[in-house]
Amino acid sequence: MRVELLGAYIDALNMQETVKRVVEFVHSDRPHRVITLNPEYLYQAQTRRDLLDLANSADLVTPDGTGIVWACKTAGFPVPERVTGIDLMLHLCEQGSHEGWRVFLLGAAPGVAEEAAEKLKQQYPGLEIAGTHDGYFKDAESEQIAGMINESKPHLLFVALGMPRQEQWIAKYQPKMGVPCAIGVGGSFDVISGRKQRAPEWTQKMKVEWLYRLAKEPSRLKRQLVLPKFATLVIRRYLLKI
Ligand code: UDP
Repeated sequence: MRVELLGAYIDALNMQETVKRVVEFVHSDRPHRVITLNPEYLYQAQTRRDLLDLANSADLVTPDGTGIVWACKTAGFPVPERVTGIDLMLHLCEQGSHEGWRVFLLGAAPGVAEEAAEKLKQQYPGLEIAGTHDGYFKDAESEQIAGMINESKPHLLFVALGMPRQEQWIAKYQPKMGVPCAIGVGGSFDVISGRKQRAPEWTQKMKVEWLYRLAKEPSRLKRQLVLPKFATLVIRRYLLKI
């Protein structure tokens, strides 16, 4: 089932059901796009029709973060749980380890995707790394990178270029790459490689993960200022019906 939030359609699935859907995508013979939708993207999409269309044309849209889960509940269309990019990526690598999938990692600073791939190979021995490439390339190189991904024949492509560039890039080069399933995963490679630490679980439980990330990286302030604006929009639209 899909629920509607501020014009975007989100799949009301838990992690296990989400993984099952991706398995179906991988076994099918056409390319699929998965978007892990966070409040920043959805807020931007309110004034960017292209971003909203990109989300609504994806094959699967997951509620990325407590902000989206809260908003869905407030709107009266609850979703079972949050399905973040990094959690989904790790669950899929575990699944891929059993199925012998090949995965390609595109994005992050030079060296990071390779380090993340090494960690994944140690943690999920059955997983094959089809290839890696950093995310600091010129637009003119995109065609060549898409061709390289196509030739390496991965089952799954993880793209960490930051949003919304990763979603736009996947949509644009999907026909050339022909990967059964591509997913934008934001800063996941930085965390998997060990270069950055994930917010501790207690901050996630107490719903203050944003505060922890802000304390660690004050440069995120501008991005995070979107969160109260997003909350205000949800309250006005769904509680105050303005
Ligand atoms: N990034 C990239 N190319 C760029 C800009 C960003 O590969 O031109 C990477 C960056 O190194 C990081 C990821 O994109 O690994 C975005 O991380 P961020 O923390 O912004 O994502 P979030 O998970 O918060 O959406």
